Amino acid sequence: MRHRSSYGPASRCVPRPGQRLAATPDGLQYEAMSGKSDDAFVKTGETAILAETDTWVFDLDNTLYSASDHVFVQVSNRIQSYIADFLGIHSDEAYRLQKRYFQDYGTSLRGMMVVHEMDPGPFLDYVHDIDLSPIGPHPELDQVLSQLPGRKLIFTNASAEHADRILRRLGVDHHFAAIFDLAAAHYVPKPQIEAYETFVARFGLNCSRCVMIDDIARNLSPAARLGMTTVWLRNETEWGGSGREDGHIHFVAEDLVDWLGHALGEG
Ligand SMILES: [Mg+2]
Repeated sequence: MRHRSSYGPASRCVPRPGQRLAATPDGLQYEAMSGKSDDAFVKTGETAILAETDTWVFDLDNTLYSASDHVFVQVSNRIQSYIADFLGIHSDEAYRLQKRYFQDYGTSLRGMMVVHEMDPGPFLDYVHDIDLSPIGPHPELDQVLSQLPGRKLIFTNASAEHADRILRRLGVDHHFAAIFDLAAAHYVPKPQIEAYETFVARFGLNCSRCVMIDDIARNLSPAARLGMTTVWLRNETEWGGSGREDGHIHFVAEDLVDWLGHALGEG
């Protein structure tokens, strides 16, 4: 658990676990995620988080862009067909394994590697060989990232090639100092703590000065345990909110650009 009191006078501006930052007519306020206690509402300054942060850690898919409509469907279908071909099983059985391994190992790939000793390289090349034409430039994201001080890193369970293609299509690739992908994590995916430890060591991060943003709540738990501030991008996917109730989420954002704008004091 993170000890906010170490921040001294600024600590009043940091939410306790279980609180979130909410935009109100009066500016940003922290509110209890349960919404049950008025005592939990604490007035804050929008720039508190900026002063404490030197590194922004972004997930890629469904965080920097909405992947639900087209990219995830293509990738999911290709994972399913790859598993079916690799194991010589019916596509229905492959789909069942795909979901079970995602739940049990963090990614379907990790399950295939552990249980079936599958080589990750050809799998990743295959599943990310998809049509990205529906993804176009995102000038609002480009603008808010350009105003955000500090280093920006990508931390993704996908491949760096996939991440690079997406970032270029969005027109935001120039904001990011590095892409830390599954291969860089030795194919150990989020939310396994070893992936975060490798990530932190690679970039020499001071976790107390990092903010991590991810659409999958359970991916934020190890980050919080290491001392990072966490932002969950609320979404309606069947997997996104799983595990969000254990107090490791410091902020809940409804929209990435809006939330970063508020953090910059523009809200
Ligand atoms: Mg994601």
